[in-house]
Amino acid sequence: KAIRRQRQMCIRDRVTVRAASSFISQMQAVQNLEELGKDDFETVKAKAQAHWDEVLGRIEVEGGTTDQYRTFYSCLYRSTLFPRKFYEIDKNGNILHYSPYNGEVLPGYMYTDTGFWDTFRSLFPLLNLVYPSVNAEIQAGLANAYRESGFLPEWASPGHRGCMVGNNSASVVSDAILKGVTPEEDIATLYEAMLAGRRKVHPTVSSTGRLGHEYYNTLGYIPYDAGINENVARTLEYAYDDWAIARMAQAMGRDDVFGEYARRALNYVNVFDGSTCFFRGRQSDGNWSAPFEEFATGRDYTEATPWHYRFFVPHDVNGLIQLFGSREAFIREMDRLFTLESDEMQLDVSDVTGLMGQYAHGNQPIQHMIYLYNYAGQPWKAQYWVRDVMNKMYTPTPDGYCGDEDNGQTSAWYVFSALGFYPVAPGTTQYVLGAPLFKKATLHFENGKNLVINAPENSDKNI
Ligand code: CA
Repeated sequence: KAIRRQRQMCIRDRVTVRAASSFISQMQAVQNLEELGKDDFETVKAKAQAHWDEVLGRIEVEGGTTDQYRTFYSCLYRSTLFPRKFYEIDKNGNILHYSPYNGEVLPGYMYTDTGFWDTFRSLFPLLNLVYPSVNAEIQAGLANAYRESGFLPEWASPGHRGCMVGNNSASVVSDAILKGVTPEEDIATLYEAMLAGRRKVHPTVSSTGRLGHEYYNTLGYIPYDAGINENVARTLEYAYDDWAIARMAQAMGRDDVFGEYARRALNYVNVFDGSTCFFRGRQSDGNWSAPFEEFATGRDYTEATPWHYRFFVPHDVNGLIQLFGSREAFIREMDRLFTLESDEMQLDVSDVTGLMGQYAHGNQPIQHMIYLYNYAGQPWKAQYWVRDVMNKMYTPTPDGYCGDEDNGQTSAWYVFSALGFYPVAPGTTQYVLGAPLFKKATLHFENGKNLVINAPENSDKNI
């Protein structure tokens, strides 16, 4: 009876509140409220529903289970949440933004809340494929970030944030340009920004720009005795980022820059220890750091053990295979990774989760690794493990992820993998094949064309 009375009171006292916010000013918030027009609550709700249906309807999948649909569309949903719009529209229809970099209100686009260390891997390639008009705005915003701060962001939230390693803005920028997504008028600025980033580091935010560039640019690696943490991870990521820059320079006809960066892209070799067949911390005098603890997270790696960076050469997998001595040796170590248990595991970070042997799907540095079986000539193992990870590490429940989802990256991995292909090395237009999860998938592109993926004999057993 009390509940019924309470409910009646609620109905009698129901009010509708119209609210808007702005990063710019109170007057702009009033302007933003105009977006609602005269719509009532139900109309706003229906419009939101229709918009999500359009966004999520860009990919249609058929022939799966209800749980698989829920997981797939939950992942696609999360892939579209970040980065967030940080721009607004004035009363004359002009795009403008509050700059988190210099505090001014300026014309043009701005997006925020994404960490490139995570999202360069497959989230941005997914945007380029399915939502290029959105990434065009994001890229325009990156050009603005460079104009307003002298740096591309690595972890924007909303200004430069000290977080993670690498210079993976190079990947995000070059992938969009090479795929024809970036607005023409921003390409020159973004190219300049990429090149500027290799010789400097932000004065107060050490993860913006390249920490340790003096060492990397002379020795070809960041030594572990330089007082810079996560030196192996930084070296490997800078090498990949250099490759992304080389790809850009090549596309722009800058042969001199291309040659220089194509050489630097091979710097991963400098931290490969042939005696252990692992990437390993190295002193400035060339000696390896000791002791080598293959099951421990530590100063040389980012949120990872040596196993999790062992296969991070996405841009030169054939070169990586050569370092192992042979395809057979490479495959043997790949196989071992999935079954190897160790009492010696020492994890002083909480990020190493979603374990299958030493494989850790719950964090990002290894998420491309399964697809490397294709380069080694055993694609059926990629197909097997990709399906296994999709089945075991994702569920359509509130705790449906096995670790860090991280701004859409772990979700985008699932979306690509369920479609049957994955961007191992953003910065090329190549995808590596896995095996589709559904019997049929249709991608509706913004240019009006469709891609239909048919796998009618697909099943739990026939992957
Ligand atoms: Ca993470």
